[in-house]
Amino acid sequence: MRTPADYISRRAHAVDASGIRKVFDLAAKMKDPINLSIGLPDFDVPDVAKDAAIEAIRAGHNRYTQTQGIAPLRERLRKDLSAEVGRDVGEVLITSGVSGGLLLAILATIDPGDEAIFLDPYFVMYKHLLAMAGGKPAIVDSYPDFRFHADRVEKAITPKTKLLVLNSPSNPTGIVMSEQEVRAAVEIAKKHDLLILSDEIYEPFQYEGVHGSGSRVPGQSTLPSAAKLYDKTIVLRGFSKSHAMTGWRLGYAAGPEAVISQMTKLQQYTFVCPPSPLQYAALAALDVPMGDAVAAYRRKRDIAFEKLSCQFDVSKPGGAFYIFPKAPSRATASDFVARAIEHNVLVIPGNVFSERDTHFRISYATTDEKLARGCDILCSLASS
Ligand code: PMP
Repeated sequence: MRTPADYISRRAHAVDASGIRKVFDLAAKMKDPINLSIGLPDFDVPDVAKDAAIEAIRAGHNRYTQTQGIAPLRERLRKDLSAEVGRDVGEVLITSGVSGGLLLAILATIDPGDEAIFLDPYFVMYKHLLAMAGGKPAIVDSYPDFRFHADRVEKAITPKTKLLVLNSPSNPTGIVMSEQEVRAAVEIAKKHDLLILSDEIYEPFQYEGVHGSGSRVPGQSTLPSAAKLYDKTIVLRGFSKSHAMTGWRLGYAAGPEAVISQMTKLQQYTFVCPPSPLQYAALAALDVPMGDAVAAYRRKRDIAFEKLSCQFDVSKPGGAFYIFPKAPSRATASDFVARAIEHNVLVIPGNVFSERDTHFRISYATTDEKLARGCDILCSLASS
């Protein structure tokens, strides 16, 4: 007779969430930790968006929307993104977070055995979503500088390669691809006829070349994006990080109609549609200037980099809200993180995002005071 565990598919077994779970288990035992592990902004959803959500609920926007999302939001996003990339970006599909967009993009394009290339360190979901689709990750080491090394990427290409996944600004390194790197990625994609999947969820959080209050007009991003140079690019962006709406589950995918329409079909039988009232709220949120938040995060990036670079080998991040220092080499990163946790500082070991266990991720999305205290403790651990 089968036990309940015997019903579990190979697909589910292929997903290993043990690394991050171990960190959460340790965190649960800590009393009032200095938590530098959380991948979400420490500000709240703007009031304009909260009010718009409440109004939308009261106005009766509580039913299914069209599978692809409400027209005014899709039209606005298409207009802004097209202005930014300098051409029509194609269709726009509103998704249940960028996670939803990633799942649909992978399901729509990857057949069993197909390969997708991405850099190590990587956002952990890429590996597991590919495994769920029966695809194969081709993971390209980007240590020690976490840059896009075209020669290494070329070497990983096989006749089975279909997707090149880019993530700039990156989780967990905070590295932003330069214009030349994006050009190199596009050259490779053109040469080998690959689709680019560009995860740009941290697009609003870029610190170089953004001055003063950090305010930007919609459609005027400075992010070098593959979508500007290559029309076989699926752009994934979202509201989770930009507007601190991680629990609202809203993102969008934009790109060639042939791919977006298949993603839409798959959404119809999975997510059905993104949350209805929150789509109206997201539309209102697009007009809220978020420059103060970006300026605050740039300051936090500077605090973290300045403090950590005295003791750690660390690349200066240009975006997102992560920094990825190398642990002192006498121990693995996991050992170092365990010591940090003993001293009440919660960070994530790099092997959660990587095939290596040499670095650790700090999220600086916390108060300046906690960040400074946490960095001081990490520095004193590294020097002792
Ligand atoms: N991509 C990256 C690189 C991320 O860091 C995250 C969230 N941590 C996501 C996608 C998914 O975000 P969401 O589903 O909340 O939009």
